[in-house]
Amino acid sequence: MTTFEPVIGLEVHAELQTASKMFCGCEVVDLTRSEPNRAVCEICTGMPGSLPVINERAVEFALRVALALDCTIAETSVFARKNYFYPDLPKGFQISQYELPLARDGQLTINVGDQQQHVRIRRVHLEEDTGKLIHHPGYSLVDFNRSGVALLEIVSEPDLHSLDAVRTYATELRSLLRYLDVNSGDMEKGVIRFEANVSIRPSGSNILGTRTEIKNLNSFKTMIRALSYEVERQSQLLSKGETILLETLGWDDSLSKTVSQRSKEEAHDYRYFPEPDLPPLHIDRTWIEQIKSSLPELPAAKRQRFVDEYGLSAYSANVLTTDRNTAEYFEEAVFSIDNISPLKISNWLSGSVFSLLNERNISIDEIKITPDELAQLIAKIENGEISASSGKVVLDEMFESGRSASEIIDERGLRQMSDLKEIEKVVTRVVDENPQQLEIYLKGKATLLEWFFGQVMRETQGRADPKLVRKTLESHLKGVEESQSRE
Ligand code: ADP
Ligand code: MG
Ligand code: ZN
Repeated sequence: MTTFEPVIGLEVHAELQTASKMFCGCEVVDLTRSEPNRAVCEICTGMPGSLPVINERAVEFALRVALALDCTIAETSVFARKNYFYPDLPKGFQISQYELPLARDGQLTINVGDQQQHVRIRRVHLEEDTGKLIHHPGYSLVDFNRSGVALLEIVSEPDLHSLDAVRTYATELRSLLRYLDVNSGDMEKGVIRFEANVSIRPSGSNILGTRTEIKNLNSFKTMIRALSYEVERQSQLLSKGETILLETLGWDDSLSKTVSQRSKEEAHDYRYFPEPDLPPLHIDRTWIEQIKSSLPELPAAKRQRFVDEYGLSAYSANVLTTDRNTAEYFEEAVFSIDNISPLKISNWLSGSVFSLLNERNISIDEIKITPDELAQLIAKIENGEISASSGKVVLDEMFESGRSASEIIDERGLRQMSDLKEIEKVVTRVVDENPQQLEIYLKGKATLLEWFFGQVMRETQGRADPKLVRKTLESHLKGVEESQSRE
């Protein structure tokens, strides 16, 4: 039986979160919070005679992304009208870029398993978002708050050959957009949307099969489910000797299957032509250089540096750098303290701290513990001032209240007792106060050792270093035994 290899290319739409829209002065609002149709004007609702003006900030944001993706920037690009009718598109066309996009021929490097892969970027272009339809039984409403918001389309070559590669590429791209401060990455708010193009071919072959295009995928999870369904569907068709139709599909979550929406549209269906109301967009070389030099350290570079500088595993470095604020938090913690290994900080951060954040569903920007305080807590555990289990208790409390570790440790009396003299005193007292148990122990019930151990730990409210208690107790009991047998 032939085995098939998936061939996948993604079109990613990312809203550019500028203050105002792409071609007018209307504010870009959070769709989930704003009342419908509050941020609208004659331009973004397509009134006849209104004239668009290019938002320079949106172009700058687009250039940041294009440069971070190693694209070639077009000195001149052209806006074009993409004509089609839809109720969320009042002009009857969308302003986009077609023949001359802002940027092309870039790449994004991803790690799939332990393989590094350069995914080629075909083009990056600017366009405007549409309004949003809200469907009710029997009628639909339209909200134009989103209409005209700057939208960046990032199109990859069909270079992705596994669902893992797709997930990694999408995650990496989202991370990049957040690093560049052009998009919040809030997928549940719809600020990043995917279209996935997929075909299959016999493994080892170089031909490109007929593809289908799955529209409007709003989360990683949906995209992966849809793609895995589609790869399977196409494999079955080809195995039976049937053909794949070039078509546009939607994902029906309730049916867990892709459904045909229409046969694939062709470019000429849109009657693209240059937008007569906008001049060609000329990009100054010095502007490009300026933006290039102002780019922050990008996720891939930061990841590598965390491995080289801090000795983290590739996995941990990835966990800490996917989100820029997490990476910065980690580094601040590392810088704030000497003598604590970055590995320890990485473990606490991606272990206990992450699970607290997840439990409460909050992000690292909202955490009440400062990086410096977290480092102090880890130091106290490392140098034995408190036990690891008290450490967890203190962390919880710091997380809730934002108070410092030392304050909480003092208040709760959690300082570990590791002074041998003090422990000896408690051991002696516990043994002296329980002659009956001692007698049973001396008759050969070794299990009583555990009982004594428990008593000492209780007396010290768990603060005594358990290893030290055990050692002291054993030698104390041995001493008693020896002196008795001598009598
Ligand atoms: P359109 O605008 O019609 O969707 P594009 O040329 O912009 O077409 O390509 C869309 C996407 O389809 C790109 O991401 C590209 O990598 C992908 N693609 C093209 N051919 C194939 C194929 N045979 N199998 C899978 N993906 C493909
Ligand atoms: Mg497409
Ligand atoms: Zn407007």
